This record gives sequence, C-alpha cells and structure tokens, in this order.
Amino acid sequence: MASRENRRALAELVTLVGDNPAQLERARALRAQVNERVATLQGLIDLQGAQGMAAAQRAGAVGTGFAQMQRINAATEQILAEERVLLRQRRAEAERRASLTTSIVIAGILVPLVLLGVLLWGLARENRRARGLEREARATVVRLAESIEQRDRLAEQRRLLGAYAGLLQSCHDRNEAMAVTARVIEQLLPHAAGRCYVLRASQNLAETFAQFGTEVIPSDAMLLPDDCWALRRGQPHRSGGHGGHVHCRHVHPEGSPDSAWMLCVPLMAQGTSLGLLHLHGLHGGDEEATTLVEAIAEQLSLSLVNLQLRETLRLQSLHDPLTGLYNRRYLEEHLQREILRCQRRQKPLAVIMLDVDHFKRFNDRYGHAGGDALLARVGQTLRELVRNEDVACRYGGEEFTLVLPETDRETALARAEVIRAAIGSTTVLHAREIIGPNTASLGLAMFPDDAQVADELLQLADAALYRAKHAGRNRVIGHGQPA
Ligand code: GH3
Ligand code: MG
Ligand code: MG
Repeated sequence: MASRENRRALAELVTLVGDNPAQLERARALRAQVNERVATLQGLIDLQGAQGMAAAQRAGAVGTGFAQMQRINAATEQILAEERVLLRQRRAEAERRASLTTSIVIAGILVPLVLLGVLLWGLARENRRARGLEREARATVVRLAESIEQRDRLAEQRRLLGAYAGLLQSCHDRNEAMAVTARVIEQLLPHAAGRCYVLRASQNLAETFAQFGTEVIPSDAMLLPDDCWALRRGQPHRSGGHGGHVHCRHVHPEGSPDSAWMLCVPLMAQGTSLGLLHLHGLHGGDEEATTLVEAIAEQLSLSLVNLQLRETLRLQSLHDPLTGLYNRRYLEEHLQREILRCQRRQKPLAVIMLDVDHFKRFNDRYGHAGGDALLARVGQTLRELVRNEDVACRYGGEEFTLVLPETDRETALARAEVIRAAIGSTTVLHAREIIGPNTASLGLAMFPDDAQVADELLQLADAALYRAKHAGRNRVIGHGQPA
C-alpha cells in the first residue's frame, strides 16, 4: 500500500520536474534509490516471514538500510534544495514580472495622462494662438477699414482742394477769392471757424476780409503784425488743445475748454507777407487740419498775389504814370459807358478838353523835366478839383480830358472855369526853382445836346478848345458858344 503511494508520489515528482533535466535526473535517481530501499525492505519482510524476526533484525542490522536511507535523504534534500532555489528564482521572476506589470500598468495610466496633459496644453496654446490671431485679424480689419476711410477722405480733400484751386484762378477780385475760401473751409473743416486777414500795403495793419463758421474764440477784427506769432515768424502757429505754443495776442481763448485749438497760417508769396488765415475750434484741430489749412493758405496766397499783380497791371495799363490820371485808353472805354448810363437816367454829361498854353515855350525855358513837373502839377490840380464820379484823363502830351456825368452845361462851364483859374495860378517847385504859373485853354461839349456819341463829343470839345486858343488862350469856350 505504502509502496504504491510512494511510486505514485515518485512518478508525480518525475512529472513535475520534467521541465528541468537536472532535477529530472535527480528525481529518477531518487526513484531508483527508493525502489532499491523498498526492494531491500521487501527482502527483509520476506526474510522475517521465512526465518523469523530475529533473522530479519540481523540482516537489517548488517544490511545497507541505513546507508540507503541516508542516500535517499540526501537525494531528497538535494532535490528540495534545488527546488527551493528554483522556487526562489521563480518567486523573484514572478516579483520582477509583477513589478514590471505594475510599471507597465502605471506607465499605461501615466502615459495617456501625460499625453492628455500635453494634448490639453497644446489645445490651450492653439486656442490662445487662435484667439490672438483672431484679435489680430479683427485689428487688421479695423485698420483696413480706417485706412480705406482715410484714403477716401484724403481723395475727397484732394478733390475739393483741386476744385478750390480752379475756382480761385477764375476769381476777379479778392472778395470773390475770400468767398470761395470760406466755402472750401466750411466743406473741409466743418467744425472750424475763423477769419482771413489781409495786410495793408504799408504792412503795418492786417484787416479782416472774410469770416467763416461760428466764432467761438474771439479774434480781433484788425491786428498788428506783432500780435500774431505766425505773421512775426512767417510760419504756421498752433496753440491750445493739442499742446502747441503760447496764444497770439489777437485771439482771446479765456474760458474756452481745454480741447480748444487755434491755428494761424501766414499768407505769403515770393517772400512777402500778404495776410493771415486764422482758424479755431473746440475739437478736431489735429495735424490733418493743420495740413489742410496750410494747403488752403498756399493756394490763397498765390491767388492773392496774382490778383494783386493783375490789379496793378490793370491800373498801370489804365493810368498815366506822370500825372496819376487815367489814360486815353481808359477814357475811350469809360466815356461810352458813362454816356449810356446818363442816357438811361436821362441826365446830361459834359466833356471838357484842356490844353496847356504855350507849353512848347515852357519846355524850352525850363527844360523837358520842368515841363514834366508842370504836367504832374496840372494832374494833381485836376484830381483835387473833380468829384469822385468824374473822370480826369491825360489825353496825350499836354492835353487833358474831363468827363463830368450828370452835370449840366452851366455847372460844367463853372467847373471848367474853376479849373482854368486854379491852373493859371499854380506855380511849381522844380530844381529848387519856382516855375510857372502857366495857363490852359478849355473847350466843352454836352451830351445829349451837342452830340450823342463819344467820338463826336470829343471832337466838338476839341473844336471848342481850338477856338479858345484862337481867341487868345487861358479861357473856357463851350460848343456853340461865341468866342
Ligand atoms: P499851344 O498854346 O498852341 O497849345 O502851344 P503849345 O506850345 O502848347 O503847343 P504845341 O502842340 O506846339 O506844343 C506842345 C509841346 O508839348 C510839344 C511837346 O514837346 C510838348 N510835350 C508833349 N508831351 C510832353 C511831355 O510828356 N513832357 C514834356 N515836358 N513836354 C511834352
Ligand atoms: Mg497841344
Ligand atoms: Mg498846348
């Protein structure tokens, strides 16, 4: 019974260590030793059965039983020891695997977490970047819209300034130029107000020529050039609102809000001061406004100097430089116009021709320059003695013509007489010498009684003058009047 169990146990041991050749060897050896021991014991049992206990005890005592048991024990111990070693190794291996598994599990948990963290961080960063880009895009859109608006505004400003320059060129006088300027300022700077000052020829006083907008910061109607920094320095002067400098004396911004601004731009051309453009407002006086006012001032300056030049040329072309009177060209233009005016009003008009007596002699005696001095003096006398509505001209040489609108024959003859007497009693200081007086003869013709057209009137007046000469000079004779 026990022997069967032993065999089964040994067979099981052999099976169990089958994967380990060394242990298998040992198990097989153990099995052989156990079998040997079992055979020995069986022999003793059989001996006991045949020869009795005493024979079996003797055989056992002298047999190899003890040595066999020792070998079996040793073999068992070796197998056990080896198995313990193997067990420890397996346990260590199992622990290593368990720890590896734990590490893998931990890694399996941590890595996705880290990846998730990285992913979330990346997403947040992307999100931030996207928001930044969106902000940037929005700012760009705003900037773009602003720049489009600015471009349109500048284009409109250029258009208005171009139209303004064109209109200025067509202006006939300063008043028209001022009206055009006021209009363009209202269009370009609707919130601004101001004045345009023009300097007198003497350059000692600037007067208001135009006013635009609703004045919120008073500025003097007239100013001395020293009262304005722009006129003093010959460059734009800005004060108030956006920083800038000290106020000009001609403006009075006391009590105005902090945003109030004042700008003075000198009107200058060819190095000469012509006047001043002064603008102010309660808001909006920025660089752009300054640039616009400067552009307007530049155009206006050119226009003013052109108008001035044109006016000078016009006056020169119509005036006689020696006497300061109108010339024959002006007379020819003016006389027919005056005749028509008097015709409309059914009023008379007198034409007087005047010729200096014996002027050749005078010239011979005092020289040509002396003769010029006398002619200049006659011119002055005529200017002093005619009314504003009368016209005195130098017809040529020492001949003069007077046109007296709305004057009847009697009055005209009386005025001619006054003039004759004045000339005949006026001396001239020339080259430290008093020369003259010298007389003059005058002939007169009347519109509409004597003639209706200019040429005929002049001829009749000249004919009357001719008769005055023949009658002895220094006298007045009217057409149809006996000498
Ligand atoms: P009468 O009394 O008949 O008019 O004699 P008159 O000598 O004044 O007339 P006449 O026509 O013979 O002479 C005019 C002179 O006037 C001749 C010319 O030398 C001179 N004369 C014409 N224009 C000027 C001028 O601009 N300056 C000067 N100094 N003399 C002039
Ligand atoms: Mg003459
Ligand atoms: Mg003469």
